[in-house]
Order: sequence, then C-alpha cells, then structure tokens
Amino acid sequence: MAKKIHYTKEMKECPYCGNDEFYIKQAYSGTCNYYMRFDMKNEKAENGEMYQSATHKDLTKYAYCSDCNKRLFLIDEYYNALFD
Ligand SMILES: [Zn+2]
Repeated sequence: MAKKIHYTKEMKECPYCGNDEFYIKQAYSGTCNYYMRFDMKNEKAENGEMYQSATHKDLTKYAYCSDCNKRLFLIDEYYNALFD
C-alpha cells in the first residue's frame, strides 16, 4: 500500500530513503541547426543553443525519487509551492 505524500516546503528529502533529488518524466521535441565544420573538428562548433527551442512536456503527474524510484507527490503541489 503506497501512502499518500504531499509536498510541503519543509520537505527536504525523500521520506522513504532520505535522498535529496527527485525527477519527473518529460518528453521534448524541437528542431535545430546542428553546426559542423569543414575540417571535421566538430567539437569546436557551437551548439549551445541546440535545446533552447525544444519544447518540454511533462509525461507524469507525479515526482519520483531519483534513488529509490518510489512515487512521491503530485508535481503540481511542488509548482504551486514555488509560486506561493
Ligand atoms: Zn527515495
């Protein structure tokens, strides 16, 4: 039985394992110009803006612990707390 967890600003770690990081599943899509050089030294070409035009989409409503992978809280509760 999974217990219900609600995000609060006092929450600093995973209540299950104490890890301080969580993740949400996202998909992203976009287009970019991928810059290359004639001399094939591609690592010197600038591609830093590659992801700026990508759009990100949350795939899940819940945040998951990045260590124990347990489902934690609704990510909306986290976003709402940020804008309180
Ligand atoms: Zn955990």
